[in-house]
Amino acid sequence: MDLQLILDQINSELRPLLGTSGGKVASYIPALARVSPLQFGIALRTCEGEVAQAGDSAVPFSIQSMSKMFSLTLAIRSLDEALWDRIGREPSGSPFNSLVQLETERGIPRNPFINAGAIAVADRLVSLGDANVELLALLGRLCGEPIRIDAEVAQSEADTGFRNTALANFMKGFGTLDNDVATVLDVYFQQCAIAMTCEQVACAAGYLCRDGRHPLAGVPVLSSAQTRRVNALMLTCGTYDAAGEFAFRIGLPCKSGVGGGIVAVVPDRLTLCVWSPALDATGNSLLGRQALELFVAKTGLSVF
Ligand code: GLU
Repeated sequence: MDLQLILDQINSELRPLLGTSGGKVASYIPALARVSPLQFGIALRTCEGEVAQAGDSAVPFSIQSMSKMFSLTLAIRSLDEALWDRIGREPSGSPFNSLVQLETERGIPRNPFINAGAIAVADRLVSLGDANVELLALLGRLCGEPIRIDAEVAQSEADTGFRNTALANFMKGFGTLDNDVATVLDVYFQQCAIAMTCEQVACAAGYLCRDGRHPLAGVPVLSSAQTRRVNALMLTCGTYDAAGEFAFRIGLPCKSGVGGGIVAVVPDRLTLCVWSPALDATGNSLLGRQALELFVAKTGLSVF
């Protein structure tokens, strides 16, 4: 299968739709609101190390909620089953920043990919050490080059993160968080502000298609069982309220972010990252979703 040709075809088919698709870039902070929607990039890396890319695949973007996959990886690696004492594993069916379920479920977030869950993961990482240093070190090892936090985005996340602050305080009230709320939120806001390219994300996520072993990282990132769990959560909870639709149309573990990126895993084959900043009504990249549908249609690669 000529993967480079397939990515070139997807780029040629979707690029003419840029600006006409009706999606909107995230506008809750200025640094994201001013990102041009006229961008589309796609990159993949196979288990054997073959790479392919097309379009704006080397342009850094704000990975936002895609960071939740990497922070979960760090937390599972250290805590394994104990992580689930205070975090659930069910799709939420509510908006990613919803407070409602926290009330009915006694402060236990439904899953690690909604904001409340990611903040609870950040709390566990704070207990384990210097969370963001660890996260950047992990990403640097996985990409083979340094990864940075966009300071402007991080500051804006903090300046406008009223709902996240409410979620954290609410969980603290229920005893879900061990650490100081401001410290935990700082970790969360900074992880959302990590900037990476499609090529870097496709490379960094490589352990998810190789049973936890990453070709550049040296040692296993996760065990095979832990890797299955991260993939299962991506499939069921990784794309906001559209996880059912993603499973139906694409059938791959995916994690998206409001920066317009989506990472997808084809177990035992490859990892793929697509980025286009204009979002659909569910907060997922509009052309990113179409690109993944085209990729699956052209390659037949899906877990189903
Ligand atoms: N920084 C965003 C927030 O916490 C992340 C949103 C996202 O990508 O889902 O609201």
